[in-house]
Amino acid sequence: MKTYPMYVAGEFTAGVTTQMMDIYNPATGEVIAQVPQATRQDMERAIEAARNAFDRGPWRNFTGQQRGRVLFKIADALRKEAARLAELETVNMGKPLTESEYDVADAVTCFEYFGGWATKIFGEVNPIPDNAMSFTLKEPVGVCGLIIPWNYPLLMAAWKLAPALAAGCTMILKPAEATPLTVLELAKILDAIEELPKGVVNIVTGLGEEVGAALSASHKVDKVAFTGSTEVGRLIMQAAAKSNIKKVTLELGGKSPNIFFSDADFTPAVEGALFGCFVNQGEVCSAGSRILVQETIYDKFVEAMIEKTKTIHIGPGLDRSNKLGPLISEEHLQRVEGYVEKGKKEGARLVYGGKRLGGNLAKGYFLEPAIFAHVTNAMAIAQEEIFGPVASVIPFKDEEEAVRLANDTPYGLAGAVWTRDIFKAFRVVRAVRAGILWVNHMQPTYVEAPWGGYKQSGIGRELGRYGIENFLEAKQVYINLSEAPLGWY
Ligand code: NAP
Ligand code: MG
Repeated sequence: MKTYPMYVAGEFTAGVTTQMMDIYNPATGEVIAQVPQATRQDMERAIEAARNAFDRGPWRNFTGQQRGRVLFKIADALRKEAARLAELETVNMGKPLTESEYDVADAVTCFEYFGGWATKIFGEVNPIPDNAMSFTLKEPVGVCGLIIPWNYPLLMAAWKLAPALAAGCTMILKPAEATPLTVLELAKILDAIEELPKGVVNIVTGLGEEVGAALSASHKVDKVAFTGSTEVGRLIMQAAAKSNIKKVTLELGGKSPNIFFSDADFTPAVEGALFGCFVNQGEVCSAGSRILVQETIYDKFVEAMIEKTKTIHIGPGLDRSNKLGPLISEEHLQRVEGYVEKGKKEGARLVYGGKRLGGNLAKGYFLEPAIFAHVTNAMAIAQEEIFGPVASVIPFKDEEEAVRLANDTPYGLAGAVWTRDIFKAFRVVRAVRAGILWVNHMQPTYVEAPWGGYKQSGIGRELGRYGIENFLEAKQVYINLSEAPLGWY
């Protein structure tokens, strides 16, 4: 059995209690590794290390060029290990190998992109009217807690580590308890980079309720950047409010509408509906899980979705012929199955799938993708985030109704619209209250463009120039240039 230590203050450690937790392969249900189940005390140590590394330097006094070079070195090292990391990601998380390969490549790009930003951080001169100069300095926000989910383990780590490092912050990363392995491999890469001072990056494995909560409640942490459920996002805000008003950015859940007008290019549209909802087993925050289809093409569209879904291979991610892997855990599979039952009880028509796979897949957590037709937007399967391969297909009459349904949700992460009418597309783009809108596509994501949600899908944006701003404070400096004596007005 492989065991991985965690990474605190530049040392690999099993933690104070040396208690370990099992890590599973969701395709087989087998334990594949053990990692430390850290305690609050371990988290305190990691926070202390990050605090020291920030307050006493030398990291924050590095030039942008020096920090940038560290990020480029991380990217180079990741690229060298890409094949091995992609395989490990699939073994630990379940997703198809090709998806893991994209994720690792995107993580490399992310470190390179933010490595470039390290030399492009600067403030501005403020146009004040008096004989004085006012300018803004950008400074690192300080010690950051980075808490990530299990659906894109290495990539989510990169989205947070790369901009935080570029900005000159120090940090504690808490991977999801189910998927710490690629992140712990990344720790070895970080450790081998001599120019990265000890304590700048700390990686603590363990349970969210314990070490994640300790991180977000700490008085010594200046900011928490969190990706995960809306429910836990609320707890993070509460903890920040009750402790030291630390800065908080949140990337939370979604129930994104994918809108199909009758004039859409039919075949790519059907593919886009399925890909948008089922990719990564539907374990995607921006999954287009509400598929809104114009009445005039509704029956034909649902029929085409069913036919196409029959051809999707499901099985272990390491076999390249499989497009869908297992869900993350037995518990999560049961939760998703619960939604399939709920949808039936609510009166939606299950027109395809939704069954757990048996036979040689019985030990893994495999679920046939499910398609529900004649769903109304008020049903739980249309309102709640399922985070699995369950599509709710909802009919609409016209543009006005499509927009109304699209916005009838507590979430606002993403959405897509499919039509050949550019004017209609843009009207819908403007009318849908969400942070990301795609036209005639769903899910492409670029490190150069902002990512994040309206409404209960979060606070703030990651990636693009917003990504670096998240980890910076603005300091306004005033210099009096008047030689006249100062006095009361
Ligand atoms: P989750 O349960 O909210 O967990 C996310 C992270 O928070 C994990 O590391 C978890 O640790 C930790 N955590 C749990 N309880 C905590 C607490 N009380 N205090 C601090 N940290 C705590 O979410 P998940 O099940 O891993 O991921 C699925 C969710 O993430 C979905 O809702 C999805 O929409 C969202 N998501 C959003 C985005 C986006 O960009 N908006 C991207 C991906 C995922 P443990 O694993 O140890 O519990
Ligand atoms: Mg948990």
